[in-house]
Amino acid sequence: MTRPSTTWSTPVPTDPAIDAMVATLPKISLHCHLIGSVAPQTVAELARKHGVPLERSAEDLYDHHSYEDLGEFLRVLDVVGSLIRDPDDFHRVTYESLTTGGADHGVLYREVHLSPPGHAGVPYPTLLEGVLAGARDAETDTGVRATFVVGICRERSGAAAVELVEQVVEHRADEVLGIGLDYAEVNGPPGRFVEAYRLAARHGLRRTAHSESGPPRHVEVLLDELGCSRIDHGYHVVDDPALTRRCVEERVPFTCTPVSSDIGRYSGSGDGSHRRIAEMVDAGLLVTIDSDDPPMFGTDPTHDYRVLAHALGYRRDQLATFTRSAVEACWLDDSDKTALLARVEAMVALTPDAPAPVPAPVLQEDPA
Ligand SMILES: [Zn+2]
Repeated sequence: MTRPSTTWSTPVPTDPAIDAMVATLPKISLHCHLIGSVAPQTVAELARKHGVPLERSAEDLYDHHSYEDLGEFLRVLDVVGSLIRDPDDFHRVTYESLTTGGADHGVLYREVHLSPPGHAGVPYPTLLEGVLAGARDAETDTGVRATFVVGICRERSGAAAVELVEQVVEHRADEVLGIGLDYAEVNGPPGRFVEAYRLAARHGLRRTAHSESGPPRHVEVLLDELGCSRIDHGYHVVDDPALTRRCVEERVPFTCTPVSSDIGRYSGSGDGSHRRIAEMVDAGLLVTIDSDDPPMFGTDPTHDYRVLAHALGYRRDQLATFTRSAVEACWLDDSDKTALLARVEAMVALTPDAPAPVPAPVLQEDPA
């Protein structure tokens, strides 16, 4: 069951039919960051455990609308990342992200984005030990399955990225399926990371990368030079019709995150229109929906679907298409995808549809 949240950054009108639809809908989570998933109460408890005074209360730390400035968001992310230090901490935040932050919202499978550089001084094996144990316990208790994407911090050097991939290869775990690229795109053009991505490819790791604010050209670099099999965000692809056509033909997946991208003004102009997501859907691109950094942006996996139902009038068929697209886009092998799709379809069949939105009245000009 989805619990009501009193901390949504983007409140919507109460609509029981939409709420029932989005709560029951199955979800596949391909764009959710571990550090961004830590609930405020857990932040407070980790700060107490490690004797770290917080500059503001944990609730106040998540000042959603201040993240229009990406630098402020990344600063808060660093504060939270620095409080996750030992295997028990990583176990706790992973478990909570996958259960109360995942399974309770109908998430069946998540590819969790990790950011080792966000936990300064923590050895990669320590992180890995905790997150793998947390994921195992979450699956035992709720049935939710998780694998992992190791994120390179694009604000650092290409050499640091290679070192991180070497760590991933040295401490290889079956659950770590690939690598990603995150933090501020403006400070880390994708071409800087070709060597790290080629190393990952040689070792059979899958590849994705963020492109939230960069030009369409960055998406081309991610596909052609970094060998990405999907793109995180990627809203600016629709500025280039030829590239859009290519991505439609090649079924390149885009992992869109409505609430966080609206606040960051990547998928619209911060007005809740989600204009670029609508354009991507209308162009026929393979779009998936997730919640990025849910508590930090005042959202959750259900609420991102709810927001699109209200803003764009999407109903069960379109919302279920996002979930089916995420099954296609995920990095599980084909037999696991087939089994996952069967679970998705069984849940979609139980999902009540909400009535179609009432069209806005057409204003007619006075003939006089
Ligand atoms: Zn992200």
